[in-house]
Amino acid sequence: MRRFATALPLVVAFVATEAVAESSRRASPCPTEGDFKTLPAAIDLYTANRVWCWMKQQVNAPLGLPPPPVFVGALPWNKYSVFVFPTSEAPDDLFSIEIAWETVQYEDPLFVVWALGHELAHSLFTLRPFGFKEQITYPAALPSMQHCDPEFRRITIAAADVLWDIYHSSDQRSKMLSLDKERYGRECSYLLNLTKLSQ
Ligand SMILES: [Zn+2]
Repeated sequence: MRRFATALPLVVAFVATEAVAESSRRASPCPTEGDFKTLPAAIDLYTANRVWCWMKQQVNAPLGLPPPPVFVGALPWNKYSVFVFPTSEAPDDLFSIEIAWETVQYEDPLFVVWALGHELAHSLFTLRPFGFKEQITYPAALPSMQHCDPEFRRITIAAADVLWDIYHSSDQRSKMLSLDKERYGRECSYLLNLTKLSQ
């Protein structure tokens, strides 16, 4: 009898969690088929679509905004991925994301999607000052400034949690968070010093 009494609240809690999960699934405005129709091999389409739709809601982007094209190619050795966009110096650059083939080849699939998510955040933060309307060129300094924007940081860190919800990989999550910290530390202290010097 005692055993039954302890087991009961657990059952109730489980049912309640399921009910919440069910209602949030129903409330999700994300299209079930996703915005990415195809992606280069080894980039998980389902997860990429979830991250993209979640991120658009975080920055209040129109839900119908299509994602930039994604390519896999040769990048400098120290880059996992890059966000490419047209600037006045390079007006022919395509608004797109490139993932290094080494990243796709040697990193965990979860880390690959996180790198993609980081670049997707750059694409959204680049479009946002223009009301999410495509421009002919964008200011070249935007992405490095975005790294030090607390909201950009909040969203890229929270993306690691969205991925954790899908994969439950603590190893990969800590790798993502430590990279974020390293990037933030190096670049933002540099920018902060520049600002101090110019004052
Ligand atoms: Zn970046």
